Amino acid sequence: MSTNKEYLQTERDKEWRAELRKKMPAKDRTAKVRTRMPELDPFVRIQYQDREVNTGLTGQQAQVEASRCLDCINPTCIDGCPVSINIPKFVKYIELGNFLEAAKTLKETSALPAVCGRVCPQEKQCEATCFYTVKLKKDPVAIGHLERFAADYERESGSMSVPEVAPANGKKVAAIGSGPASLSFAGDMVKFGYDVTVFEALHEIGGVLKYGIPEFRLPNKIVDVELDNLQKMGVKFVRNFIVGKTASFEDLKSEGFEAFFVASGAGLPRFMNIPGENYNGILSSNEYLTRVNLMNAASEQFDTPVIKGKNVAVIGGGNTAMDSVRTAKRLGAERAMIIYRRSREEMPARVEEVHHAEEEGIEFMNLANPIEYFADEKGMVNRMRIQRMTLGEPDSSGRRRPIVLEGSEYDIPVDLVIVAVGVSPNPLIPSEVKELKVSKWGTIEVNEETMQSSIPELFAGGDIVRGGATVILAMGDGRKAAASMDQYLQEKMKK
Ligand SMILES: Cc1cc2nc3c(=O)[nH]c(=O)nc-3n(C[C@H](O)[C@H](O)[C@H](O)COP(=O)(O)OP(=O)(O)OC[C@H]3O[C@@H](n4cnc5c(N)ncnc54)[C@H](O)[C@@H]3O)c2cc1C
Ligand code: SF4
Repeated sequence: MSTNKEYLQTERDKEWRAELRKKMPAKDRTAKVRTRMPELDPFVRIQYQDREVNTGLTGQQAQVEASRCLDCINPTCIDGCPVSINIPKFVKYIELGNFLEAAKTLKETSALPAVCGRVCPQEKQCEATCFYTVKLKKDPVAIGHLERFAADYERESGSMSVPEVAPANGKKVAAIGSGPASLSFAGDMVKFGYDVTVFEALHEIGGVLKYGIPEFRLPNKIVDVELDNLQKMGVKFVRNFIVGKTASFEDLKSEGFEAFFVASGAGLPRFMNIPGENYNGILSSNEYLTRVNLMNAASEQFDTPVIKGKNVAVIGGGNTAMDSVRTAKRLGAERAMIIYRRSREEMPARVEEVHHAEEEGIEFMNLANPIEYFADEKGMVNRMRIQRMTLGEPDSSGRRRPIVLEGSEYDIPVDLVIVAVGVSPNPLIPSEVKELKVSKWGTIEVNEETMQSSIPELFAGGDIVRGGATVILAMGDGRKAAASMDQYLQEKMKK
């Protein structure tokens, strides 16, 4: 039996859990239907950039939903969680009405529960491996919604618990970038007793959580509370500091930093390289979302405006595309369209985001691919040519390959185009550090078990290693890197 299994078993055997299980027969638990997350009306919410779509479960709703969980002997839900949250324990604390203990349980393994409860693709992770999904073929326990509830309850109660940290060991380590990978790394390292500094190139801490994901899905104030918690644990944040430009790794080493975790993300936008793509009014989703989220571009009072198109086309089918098109709708677009070359089934965006986008009146042009843009005499895009597609055999990603339908081209009027067809790793660090082993895609190569790179004191994780993944996978990498960097530094000390 592994240590983790023993821990789970010991926790499950506790008297309060056994009592709670006895309180309601399993057949009554499974007879209940999944509680729906309350949402803001689509007609109301599209008028606000900063009002959250999901409004959160009440305490009573959360307890009813938590009572569906069977507190399984073998909680398969945990297998689906990249940071191994003790799911039944936190869910059962909710059923019991002890919401603060539920939040504490989340923080045993996750540095950002209020964030994960909002943006994780639970339907592909813990909820996909829940007993209800796998064996009963019913709607899974709403683990993500419960996670959000517990974290929000704790924040709103004013009694945020700060996880305990070990006494300072005097060793300095640095994290490069301040996205979820670094934040989760920093949280664990500071718990082990290290002196942790996070260096961030931008003026805001949080990476994509701040500059990418819009307020209507993840309010910045939620991220700030989690950052504040890390700061209370002792993590230091340095803004406007580009590692590789403001200072090199050698400079940082001479300041006493003994090891580094590189989590510089995948913020380099990709374009399609089709004719006319350089016209004004065509921009990457990164630029569009960063301008709106971090530079107040939607406000007339700021001097960094963004074009507010009437006919807006967003190219792509991922989360970034959904966030861009829904932002454009909120900024007043009459037609806000998704143009995606495969069908709805292949869309990589979260199911919930696609559903919300549809409710908000976003038009989906699936099996459609842009092939050329046209502009007016001032070079401003005013029309795009689209080609229809059909689906062939699955490709290496397992999704059916789009095939061109010859002679199917048609034009539509557009005055703003946002290209969200993927991102590449931020190239600065891989190009600055010559000895660093980098893949042909520009991602940093690491040992998958330890996250250690070809340079022993340099570890890496998140999108700079995966090339564009998810918040929770980035956080899982951060935790893995922290555990192995700790081991590496301890062994070094013994020598
Ligand atoms: C619009 C959008 C929506 C998304 N929606 C979801 C979602 O709903 N659910 C989900 O799970 N995932 C989502 N993702 C993906 C997810 O956000 C990323 O996988 C995750 O943020 C990666 O984390 P990271 O820590 O590796 O890097 P990032 O969050 O990208 O952070 C990297 C940070 O490093 C900084 N940096 C780069 N180079 C340097 C340097 N040299 N020195 C100092 N700092 C540097 C950057 O400025 C940046 O702040 C979304 C992504 C985008 C763009
Ligand atoms: S698998 Fe589902 S029912 Fe079982 S413990 Fe996990 S959340 Fe509860």
